[in-house]
Amino acid sequence: MVEETFKYAATPASSKVATAAWEAIQTCREVYNHALTQEYRPRPKGSKPSYTSMQNKLPAWKEKWPEWSDVYSKTLQMAVRRIKQSESVLESLKEKGYEVGQLQWKSPEEYRSIVYNQSGFDVDRNTDRTEHATVDFSKIGIFHLKYHRPLPEDGEISQIILKKTKTGDWTVNIVVDYEPEYPEPPAIEEIDAENTVGIDLGITSFIHDSTGRSFKSLDEQTDRERIERRHRNLSRKEYGSNNWEKARQKLAQAYKRLRNRRKDYREKLAHEYTTHYDAVFLEDLNVKSMIEGDRNSRNIAAMSWRKTIYAFKRHGEKNGCHVIEVPPAGTTKRCSQCGTETAKPLWVRKHSCPACGFVANRDYNSALEIKRLGLEKIGIRDSSVDIGQGMAESTSPELGEFWCANESPRDSLTPAETALPGEAPSISPKRVVETGSPTLKEQTAAAVSE
Ligand SMILES: [Zn+2]
Repeated sequence: MVEETFKYAATPASSKVATAAWEAIQTCREVYNHALTQEYRPRPKGSKPSYTSMQNKLPAWKEKWPEWSDVYSKTLQMAVRRIKQSESVLESLKEKGYEVGQLQWKSPEEYRSIVYNQSGFDVDRNTDRTEHATVDFSKIGIFHLKYHRPLPEDGEISQIILKKTKTGDWTVNIVVDYEPEYPEPPAIEEIDAENTVGIDLGITSFIHDSTGRSFKSLDEQTDRERIERRHRNLSRKEYGSNNWEKARQKLAQAYKRLRNRRKDYREKLAHEYTTHYDAVFLEDLNVKSMIEGDRNSRNIAAMSWRKTIYAFKRHGEKNGCHVIEVPPAGTTKRCSQCGTETAKPLWVRKHSCPACGFVANRDYNSALEIKRLGLEKIGIRDSSVDIGQGMAESTSPELGEFWCANESPRDSLTPAETALPGEAPSISPKRVVETGSPTLKEQTAAAVSE
């Protein structure tokens, strides 16, 4: 059983519903603030009131403030429970070494959602319109959902969170418990090296893989300009005024748009790779981020790498693909073909091995090395040759120079080495060419790295 949150953009059925929703949220805020400042905070640490005991005071509070009864009663309980969540957020910040004070009273700006737990909602996903569903919230009314992703058929909805975001849009998060039907990933020992791929997460380009494909980083120029423009616009407005608020929302929207684009890109790549391969090898970025890039670009890159790896893992689980991390140390230095290490500064974009003559794009060489390490880690023998799978025969005249660059000892790879142990060395002509001729390898490597 897994718990998954399905997020939808939502629109209130009428302005009356919108008002009711916002008022309900604000009532929850009042309850939260009241419970926090009058019940929870005054008591010393170690003898804090329980949530149940605070919830039990709700009927009395409702008598005192009758308007609180306009809100679905269980959502008020959830508002009291929210103190606990805030407390654990505070705790985790403290653990990370932040200096934190006590829990603070929340302003309308900071309190924007209402939680319906177990009951008080009615979801209709069989409306006549496509990609459309509705949620009827008790004591608020109906919200239309942009139902782009169906909820699991036999899932059970445990919670629905209605939120008004800082951009002024409404979202509905539906939390569902269900039994996912993910395909089983293939048994490790049955994986064919050909169905695996090594991926280098780069700084200059987003991704390089061991088949020679590369994906550029997202072009963010337009988004950045938009954000800058809106920052300037906001700074010209009188703080707190209506126009300031509008400008702030516009700015928040611009940021959100960039975030969404980045996310979309990561998700698409993660989906593509995990649906096409049995195993994907990536670098363990906690280590990688320590060794590459200057401090500033390192932090930014590390953040995006982390999200990318997370996306790969998530999609890997869904698509029956192993996502395996390998230690990155040396992947940029080491030659994927012979193992010789050559130090090179980051700006040197070409890998050129002094020992075996293998020439390739730096990141492509890394991706090959990552694949080699990955296969080693799971104990799969790569009986094929990484480079030039199905490409060795193709020629590319404009890359002629690499034909000449080769001075490598041809006897370093003998056909016999490619035979499996205990097998007579019967080698297909193709394999002999691939393993025995570094020239061909280089040439293909260069061809695909362009
Ligand atoms: Zn080499």
